[in-house]
Amino acid sequence: MRFLSLQRARRSAHITHMPVIRARLLMMNAALGPLDYKVPDGMNVEYGQIVIAPLGPRQVTGIVWEEGRLPANSVPEAKLRPLLSAVDVPPIRGELRRLIEWTADYYIAPLAAVARMVIASGGALRGPATMTEYRLSGGMPDRMTPQRERAIAALEGEQATIRELSGLADVSEGVLRGLVNQGALEPVEVDVDRPYTRARHDFDEPDLSDDQRKVSARLVEAVATRKFAPILLDGVTGSGKTETYFEAVAEALKDDRQVLVLLPEIALTEAFLKRFGNRFGAAPVTWHSSLKSTERRRAWRAIASGEAQVVVGARSALFLPYANLGLIVVDEAHEISFKQEDGVRYNARDVAVMRGHFEAIPVILASATPALESLHMATSGTYEKLDLPSRFGGAQMPEIRLVNLTEEQPGRGSWIAAPLRRAMFERLERGEQSLLFLNRRGYAPLTLCRNCGFRFQCPNCSAWLVEHRLSQRLSCHHCGHETATPEKCPECGEPDCLVACGPGVERIADEVAEMLPDARVALVTSDTINTPEKAAQFVAMAEGGAIDVIVGTQLVTKGFHFPELTLVGVIDADLGLEGGDLRAAERTYQQVAQVAGRAGRGAKPGEVLIQTRHPDAPVIAALEAGDRDAFYDAETEARRHAGAPPFGRWAAIIVSAEDDAEAREAANRIGNSRPRLDDVMILGPAPAPLALLRNRYRYRLLLNARRSAELQKVIRQWLGQLDHPPGVRVGVDIDPYSFV
Ligand code: ADP
Ligand code: ZN
Repeated sequence: MRFLSLQRARRSAHITHMPVIRARLLMMNAALGPLDYKVPDGMNVEYGQIVIAPLGPRQVTGIVWEEGRLPANSVPEAKLRPLLSAVDVPPIRGELRRLIEWTADYYIAPLAAVARMVIASGGALRGPATMTEYRLSGGMPDRMTPQRERAIAALEGEQATIRELSGLADVSEGVLRGLVNQGALEPVEVDVDRPYTRARHDFDEPDLSDDQRKVSARLVEAVATRKFAPILLDGVTGSGKTETYFEAVAEALKDDRQVLVLLPEIALTEAFLKRFGNRFGAAPVTWHSSLKSTERRRAWRAIASGEAQVVVGARSALFLPYANLGLIVVDEAHEISFKQEDGVRYNARDVAVMRGHFEAIPVILASATPALESLHMATSGTYEKLDLPSRFGGAQMPEIRLVNLTEEQPGRGSWIAAPLRRAMFERLERGEQSLLFLNRRGYAPLTLCRNCGFRFQCPNCSAWLVEHRLSQRLSCHHCGHETATPEKCPECGEPDCLVACGPGVERIADEVAEMLPDARVALVTSDTINTPEKAAQFVAMAEGGAIDVIVGTQLVTKGFHFPELTLVGVIDADLGLEGGDLRAAERTYQQVAQVAGRAGRGAKPGEVLIQTRHPDAPVIAALEAGDRDAFYDAETEARRHAGAPPFGRWAAIIVSAEDDAEAREAANRIGNSRPRLDDVMILGPAPAPLALLRNRYRYRLLLNARRSAELQKVIRQWLGQLDHPPGVRVGVDIDPYSFV
């Protein structure tokens, strides 16, 4: 059946696309404009075909594009060089070509940069491939060494490349090559593109609650209808949003169409994969930045051929060349990690909706704390909104209380106030779990010398170095610069004079260990949970009751479901409200509401204690009252008043150079040539809050436009007429999320 329908699709594609004689290529290199080539006799290319073309002595990759949609070039017919070959992968479909164009246009990015996100695996374009993996042969080496012994013990039942095995066994590749030579490891040839296990739509169907059934029926209908339908799935934490949208996934599977599920975090993926496997009997295809190149190729080709049924990935999975997409789900759709901050600065949540538009399919945005923009789209009728107002299985929403830090001061060098301490003692006594949240990695955000006042600063950035006691290093969270924590002050030479100022999660974990010496404490940050395996291990331990207290950064705010977790403590709810972030209130609300949502998800009720110095701040008061609508209403009015999104639009222009004067002059040049417009207000240039980043000096301009303004056109014309020295970079950030 499946095979037949694919055949039909292919044939009709041949009928509608006439063969091209002169082919205009979108080149994968942004420095090249579109180039025209001759299609040699006997070569059959369609629009969207990926081809190899000659350029001088080199071979370059391009995509055959509709001529009228790319700027023409004037090379006469007779001078055209012939294409070398067509790559044996399906052509990039028209729907995706339109998305590439839209993305480049909207985010003011080169077409090539967007197209490269589609061809995200160089390896995928090569011909059939096998690779060599190794496994234990059962034989023993002539000479045993401790390392060899360790490797053999660790590799029982494993089969992978030497590099991967070396990671698994924690020995060098040299040790493993020795074992190959000795015959203890044997090579196995495997097909890189071996098929994935098929998922089954009816593997283990859940019993949905009435609310869930109503919502899932509508989602299923939307998938079956095969029309564009943006849907906001707005359900409280623990309401079973995943369970519910899985029914829509099942419908697409039944219909042999592909599904893309975007997740914000790799740590979340593990818990998700397990649930997915339980429901559909097979793992989905995953896509994220730490895939090995062979896995990347395998996934890419399976996605392009239609073999991959469900893809679960980070934002970059959005641009892959799905053969027959039937549904997109953006889970935790409010998450800011869907916003890419370098290269093409796009927001995967918004582009997902555009992809749904071009593909004519439903897009589900699932969240307990939707972005104000999404909620506005729903109230204005652009998005459909489906609600899951209560937790599954009768679990109650947690009780939320504030701890006023101006009254309940913790002692010196301590950050956990008495009420939170008491609550943690109780939990430990009852054998229940607590979670403490502080969105700051490391031990302390600032280290200074008590003797001379010296402060450790990053040499490349205008930022303090953050002490990490676990790794005994001072590190910059912006550029990754690291140095060993010294014994004495580098300025005055005094020993034992360095003081840590302020808390990071490591310091909170220390405080917990001191306060509850018997408690088993897990520290959950991107420093400790940095691989899918570690994430899986953490989830298993927390679920199995092997952890009493979890201390974590934003990694722990979402996705996890630990029934024994009954207390959540927010160490510093005011942290996110500092600084010049225009979305600070919304982000604080989302983070605290999400982490609060981890409490009391099982049979036992949950309690949340929020430590704050500003109990009267509207966002904190709304959190205490559990009044989501009050928060959104107040924030909506504030945004309306400020002409901020969704009522107006923002864009940022970021100018940087290694030389401060050069950057400043370029920024001033841009500022001085600003257009005077009624519907666009332009602020700056001003030194960026992060005035130095990775050794580049930075200046920013902020545009605030009415919705009706043609913002992109204005920026393109404005910046297009200016030239800058080669060392100057000018970046445009449409709908920015970062203001540093
Ligand atoms: P959300 O994503 O809305 O926070 P989840 O989908 O994670 O909620 O559901 C919360 C918990 O309840 C999960 O452990 C999930 O397996 C369970 N659950 C939700 N709906 C059902 C159902 N219909 N049948 C069985 N378990 C369910
Ligand atoms: Zn730095």
